[in-house]
Amino acid sequence: MTATIDPEVRDELRAGVRRWVEREVLPVASDFEHADEYPTEIVEQMKAMGLFGITIPESLGGLGLDLLAYIAVVEELAAGWMSLSGIVNTHTIAASVIMRNGTPEQQRRWLPRLATGELRGCLSLSEADAGSDTRNITCRAVRDGDEYVITGTKMWVTNGERAGLVALAARTDEGITCFIVEKEPGPTFGGITVSKNIGKLGYKGIETVEMVYDGHRVGADCVLGGDEGLGHGLGWILGALEVGRINIAARACGVARAAFEAAIRYAQERKTFGKPIAEHQAIQQKLADMATKLQAARLLTEHAAQLKQNGDRADVEAGMAKLFASETAFEIATESLRIHGGVGYTTELPIERYYRDAPLMIIGEGTNEIQRLVIARGLLKRYAIDG
Ligand SMILES: Cc1cc2nc3c(=O)[nH]c(=O)nc-3n(C[C@H](O)[C@H](O)[C@H](O)COP(=O)(O)OP(=O)(O)OC[C@H]3O[C@@H](n4cnc5c(N)ncnc54)[C@H](O)[C@@H]3O)c2cc1C
Repeated sequence: MTATIDPEVRDELRAGVRRWVEREVLPVASDFEHADEYPTEIVEQMKAMGLFGITIPESLGGLGLDLLAYIAVVEELAAGWMSLSGIVNTHTIAASVIMRNGTPEQQRRWLPRLATGELRGCLSLSEADAGSDTRNITCRAVRDGDEYVITGTKMWVTNGERAGLVALAARTDEGITCFIVEKEPGPTFGGITVSKNIGKLGYKGIETVEMVYDGHRVGADCVLGGDEGLGHGLGWILGALEVGRINIAARACGVARAAFEAAIRYAQERKTFGKPIAEHQAIQQKLADMATKLQAARLLTEHAAQLKQNGDRADVEAGMAKLFASETAFEIATESLRIHGGVGYTTELPIERYYRDAPLMIIGEGTNEIQRLVIARGLLKRYAIDG
């Protein structure tokens, strides 16, 4: 992890991304989302701003910023359109597992191209029968001379088709191992086929796919961490998912903020019974609860990011932030829809998009039921009593 940076640099970055989102994203987000269209030009601009390499060290071509800067950017992107934060998320998880666990040679091989976005990354852990239950992975990699032969079907690969690099969890004789698989973006490459593009409630414009590996060959130098990495892949990927959970919490804050700000604006414009609805106490109660929970979600998220940035254990705090922020986003999106009345249910306003995007944060990077287990496990260790 890069060193903590000057808060002013972080604030400038946040302000710059916010201005860009207002100018380039907000006017078109709903159109792209309703058409389920990939925003090519917007992604090119994100590359130019360096957003694919925020936490990658400058020596390897990244911006060399910290996790707090990363979550600030993620919140701003998600406040404009949640899918944009998904485009950088699994990419950043793939980069962070290489940063933490790759050999120096592997870092030099992949990180500079990931940092510029020339090479787009994705994370492929889940399978149809291995979502929460990650130890159930059946995708296999068998050694054959200087190569591994990969066979199996992976599910839920966000960015899978457009990515040129997959951080893939596959079973080897030593246990679950992380392979870094390079491929050409597109529906097929070597023994890899995108077998299904999964239709979704929200989180549109970005692909989530099923990918089949049918005897796909990679060099033995694609084992993350080299031979010493064999069997360590699951632990490493789950470690990197702490960053993913903090990302999900920041995304949730972004969606929640957009939904809240739309609601408080509308409440002052819309009149019923001779006065703005913001003057009805029932609406005021809602606005107060929404803002309070949003603030709490942001503080939990920043706290988890700071701990992780310091190199401290953050499993409990990342879980708490993800759990609270995602439930908050779901609640605030629903309350915003209620405050907007009938117009909130239409496609004229982005409220229905927030309402469809919010539930993903409850499921992605480990469901909230699983977060509670992670939090409780961590707490029981911290508060263990003798005997
Ligand atoms: C849009 C989308 C994008 C995704 N992108 C990616 C990606 O890029 N890469 C990737 O690897 N994965 C990705 N995922 C997969 C995601 O991480 C899994 O869907 C998630 O972990 C849940 O797994 P599951 O769907 O198999 O649900 P299941 O594990 O089948 O869970 C079903 C229900 O049972 C509950 N449950 C399961 N076990 C327990 C337990 N022990 N105690 C209590 N309750 C339990 C769950 O909380 C849930 O409510 C994505 C998923 C979605 C929907």
